[in-house]
Amino acid sequence: QMQEYIGEDSPIIAKGDGVYLYDVDGTRYLDGVSSLWVTVHGHRHPVLNQAIKDQLDQIAHSTLLGLSNVPSVLLAKKLVEITPPGLCKVFYSDNGSTAVEVAVKMAYQYWQLQGKRAKTKFVKLEEAYHGDTIGSVSVGGIGLFHQIFARLLFPTYTAPAPHCYRCLNREACEMQCLDAMEEILQNNGGEIAAVVMEPLIQGAAGMIVHPPGFFSRVRELASQYGVFLIVDEVATGFGRTGKMFACDHEGVSPDFLCLAKGITGGYLPLAATLTTEKIFNQFMGSYGELKAFFHGHTYTGNPLACAAALANLETFDKEDTLTGLQEKISHLEVSLNERFAPHPHIGDVRQRGFMVGLELVRDRTSGEPYPTAERVGHKVIKEARRLGAILRPLGNVIVLMPPLATTIQELEELLEITYQAIDKVTRGPSVEAHA
Ligand code: PMP
Repeated sequence: QMQEYIGEDSPIIAKGDGVYLYDVDGTRYLDGVSSLWVTVHGHRHPVLNQAIKDQLDQIAHSTLLGLSNVPSVLLAKKLVEITPPGLCKVFYSDNGSTAVEVAVKMAYQYWQLQGKRAKTKFVKLEEAYHGDTIGSVSVGGIGLFHQIFARLLFPTYTAPAPHCYRCLNREACEMQCLDAMEEILQNNGGEIAAVVMEPLIQGAAGMIVHPPGFFSRVRELASQYGVFLIVDEVATGFGRTGKMFACDHEGVSPDFLCLAKGITGGYLPLAATLTTEKIFNQFMGSYGELKAFFHGHTYTGNPLACAAALANLETFDKEDTLTGLQEKISHLEVSLNERFAPHPHIGDVRQRGFMVGLELVRDRTSGEPYPTAERVGHKVIKEARRLGAILRPLGNVIVLMPPLATTIQELEELLEITYQAIDKVTRGPSVEAHA
């Protein structure tokens, strides 16, 4: 809310170094959310810096419309190698919303070209978030962000999200939440183009962790009822869940895979939508048949961004980032369970790899939430900032998503600040006075 922001003295960041940010006054902060979930190997990493400088000496930008450029070709080849089997075609854009928008439009156009004209609808999960363009908002379901635009959006089916913390079947979970998804597909498969979902964890929804097997079961259902599966790994991709892609945990090969955020290690805007040979081939024909996918962004396949992405992937290999990450994930898990889980105002601790959500509640026993207007999450992150860490909440959920390069010692510093901030705000007079 700009009216409030204007009155606040928010830091202006001037510099970064490793996992730290420095503002114009020289104050240092731990980057606890990877500068909005993007930074991977840290700020000012020498390999990524050098790759961009080297690319600058070649060319900063040339169009991918009708031409190609060296880094975009190399990166496409590499992405095909490291993503799940079957994905072999790469379409570039420049942010997570467009990566999803592209997948949605391609899925729709595929069925139109196939002559299955009725297949125009999409299935989304409750609380889904896939970006802020109208197409990605259409397949989103966060009331606070999306409701005002309802009349601009195309129609979709909504399936329940497996929000285990608030689930009444929690004790006897057989993933009953999937029954509704199956019913939607069974009854309406003929008019559905695709299911769109984030795998394993719904980030912006408040770090909702799905039960094991949920994701692979959606894959099976989509195949069974003849609809595509669009997997949005904008947040989960590039190591965040402990493996390179969330798909790798359950051996899922989607029909479309959307990547952005960490693709350049957090350096430059770039996105990619990967798909299969079968889908690609449906768009083939002479120009006059007008089967082309008429969609292309100006900075598509930007060479600087692709060079950064190549250096990012090279650094994953050279530094063996994913191997080193496992110990940090375990450390995080132990600290969260031992220290945060028993806190009287933390209702639920959710973690998937290096993605964490701490749900603050007024009453732990009943799970009674804090009223939105109280802005408890916001108060906590302001206190954390005072203590030296940049965080960003999702309502009353405190998100921790540090760069993968964060050391155990830095992780401890982040956890300490986060705990202090939560404790001070939730036990402080202004919040407890309402209890
Ligand atoms: N999908 C997911 C899962 C995301 O988390 C986000 C951004 N938080 C987006 C899409 C949109 O990405 P962008 O902000 O780059 O458009």
